[in-house]
Amino acid sequence: MIMDDKTIEFLKQTFREFYYKNSSKITAPIRMNEREFGYMSFNKVMVRHLSFRTDGELRVFLIRESPHSVYYSCAYYYEPTLPMGEKGWKGADLIFDIDADSIPTRCKDEHDIWVCKDCKFMDKGKRPETCPKCASTRIEEESWFCPLCLNATKNEAIKLVDFLLEDFGIPKDKIKVYFSGSRGYHVTVEESSLEGLDQLARNEISDYISGTGFSIESLGISKGASYDDMYGFLPLANEPGWRGRIASFFTEFEFESYELIDKDVRDKILYIYGKIGYKSFEELIKKIVNDLGVKIDVMVTTDIHRIFRLPNTLHGNTGMLKKKCDDLTSFDPLIDAVVLSDEPVKLFVYRAPKFNLKGDFFGPYHSEEVTLPLMVAVYLLGKGLAKVINSY
Ligand SMILES: [Zn+2]
Ligand SMILES: [Zn+2]
Repeated sequence: MIMDDKTIEFLKQTFREFYYKNSSKITAPIRMNEREFGYMSFNKVMVRHLSFRTDGELRVFLIRESPHSVYYSCAYYYEPTLPMGEKGWKGADLIFDIDADSIPTRCKDEHDIWVCKDCKFMDKGKRPETCPKCASTRIEEESWFCPLCLNATKNEAIKLVDFLLEDFGIPKDKIKVYFSGSRGYHVTVEESSLEGLDQLARNEISDYISGTGFSIESLGISKGASYDDMYGFLPLANEPGWRGRIASFFTEFEFESYELIDKDVRDKILYIYGKIGYKSFEELIKKIVNDLGVKIDVMVTTDIHRIFRLPNTLHGNTGMLKKKCDDLTSFDPLIDAVVLSDEPVKLFVYRAPKFNLKGDFFGPYHSEEVTLPLMVAVYLLGKGLAKVINSY
């Protein structure tokens, strides 16, 4: 959706005021002068290869440019402002992106819609390949997010942190978790021994954490082997890594057969294996691994030149803050990351479902004029679902 000039100007002014009033909270990432910075303007122009030396420079830049989005590199360079091939890569933080989009939740059928750009036909749920009314393939998706999918996303972040702590032995103070400002979580590992890893090694880490390529042979199961032979190779719950994770799952699993009460986890595994056979057991383990693994965006973790949203900056699609979560369990993005004021703004809203922000419900709206608190107004304007009529 194309934004009109008045709306763009309004958003820019709103962001500028926020950065001006909160400039003391804008802090640079560690080793700032070794990083590349970039930004996207509200006119959707992308600028990269910038560099800042001090917090002050960064603050002045944010107030002056008031961008839609601000990014910094996970990588450290000798010359961050030179073209990519000449920067001189020194290393990079290990980064993870978890996005509500890639986590299947049922609420999506309720709040995601798609619109045919040609005949304007729209419907709920996942977009079809072609429009059922006019057969056009020019279909625009409008994904929304709600407490349910944000919670599912948070659970993935909690699992990820556990992998980093338990399986990779990364100290807790090196792991930083952020709400992304839109519909997910970012996790970064700074100043660790993994900094020098190349793309391939990062790909292996991603595969491990997501459970990609896990084989049941690594659990000690092997086709044709006798139970007695396999028994000694089966995992125990106190083992590290995936074997221990899967053994823990079976330890906690409720079995219908009471012969198994007080039995060893290995007996439980063999009991199921014997009952359902190799093929089904393999399917079952696949399902368990899919549940226990983390749904990370592999492209992000393996890209060692990635620029990533800068913490404590506003997301242009929502007006919400990329915010550090000190206590992930209690963090509620729809409250804690909503930082703009509640001064009234008059809008024309094209459409919006009923939604919740900062503890209040709004909408649904269908082509109507509404006066809304600034934080809610920016949330709709940023998504291209409304335009400014007047601001007080
Ligand atoms: Zn159509
Ligand atoms: Zn949802």
